[in-house]
Amino acid sequence: MTVHIRGDLAALQCTSDGERPVAAIRLDRNELPDGPLPHAVAAIRSAAEAVHRYPDPTAAALVDRIARHVGTTADRVTVGCGSANLCQHLVQATCDPDDEVVFGWPSFELYPAVARVVGARSRPVPTTAGHGLDLDGLLAAITRRTRLIFLCNPNNPTGTAVHRAELTRFLDNVPESVLVVLDEAYREFVTDSDVPDGAHLLQGRDNVAVLRTFSKAYGLAGMRIGYAIAAPEVITALRRVGVPFSVNSLAQRAAIASLDAGDELAARCRNIILERDDWVRPTLLAVGLEVPESHTNFLWLPLGQRTVPFRDHCLRHGVLVRGFAAAGVRVSIGEPQENDAFLAAAASFLRAPAPAAVARGDDNRDRGAVRRTDLPPGRAVANVAANAQHDKSEG
Ligand code: PMP
Repeated sequence: MTVHIRGDLAALQCTSDGERPVAAIRLDRNELPDGPLPHAVAAIRSAAEAVHRYPDPTAAALVDRIARHVGTTADRVTVGCGSANLCQHLVQATCDPDDEVVFGWPSFELYPAVARVVGARSRPVPTTAGHGLDLDGLLAAITRRTRLIFLCNPNNPTGTAVHRAELTRFLDNVPESVLVVLDEAYREFVTDSDVPDGAHLLQGRDNVAVLRTFSKAYGLAGMRIGYAIAAPEVITALRRVGVPFSVNSLAQRAAIASLDAGDELAARCRNIILERDDWVRPTLLAVGLEVPESHTNFLWLPLGQRTVPFRDHCLRHGVLVRGFAAAGVRVSIGEPQENDAFLAAAASFLRAPAPAAVARGDDNRDRGAVRRTDLPPGRAVANVAANAQHDKSEG
């Protein structure tokens, strides 16, 4: 091999699908189980007729629709081939080699990778004991070389969220020359009104950008489309570094159709939130696991050294979860039967009885208003707890 390849790239992992068994229940990528919204599928079908033409490189119709959706003007919005690409473009637009990118850790794993691709340095700041982002720590990590801060709210993988008052104070203390990127990939799953909408926060602040994606709540992960909201100068810089035509025409049309189907989106998010808060998390807590409150479509289990054995155990039970070595496991909320398979695997790891079998008693679960069984609320979980206790005392 005689071609010169940058030596620093050797530290980066190649893109690979790891060992993702096709047959497993996939709760490792925070995908929505429901699939795309029906209107989006129809839009993709009709757009397929015209894929011999290049897409609109400015995605003007979609940009207008997003601007209306978030209450801003089109010059403050741009789209990307997934918000992952926009993460990279933001670093490319702000950092020279050896400049610094600050972010909480653990957080979205792409942040250090995109920094390295640009030759910038990563400054990870550990999360707090409660698994939240340490805003004071992030402020303290800012140096003269800091150009960008990624603040994932709610945070992937811990699921925790930063509240309005602390985030406002944080933004007030960041130097105006540093771009704060509020990554809101999971915004649609937030129900706590104290968790601010970044689109409101950036009003009057030219050094704040918001990233959103159609990959999660909208069920369009395979379409690869996300967007950024920021000051016009930042948006122009993103358009300069982006590769033309990288947001394809199917994705553009599917995203517009998805934004037009607001009520259907809200209903599916409600289902995920109910499953998360009324079943999966309480069941895990009841068997004795630590699970921080989540504002996303996944849960975080800070298992430390038990992370890899737990992940491997789940896989042996046909459930794929995401392990973050020696830190914890992230598990997405899937279909009820998928969640029950995971809960059974988790319980057997802890040698507790299988929660779903204990609690449900019948198969009468429906997504929607009436949930799992004819047991009164709280009863199912109490049963699981009682049985777990029993099991523990048997050693
Ligand atoms: N930000 C966060 C926090 C994420 O978790 C993800 C996907 N896992 C992304 C950005 C990228 O999403 P996409 O590229 O699919 O839009």
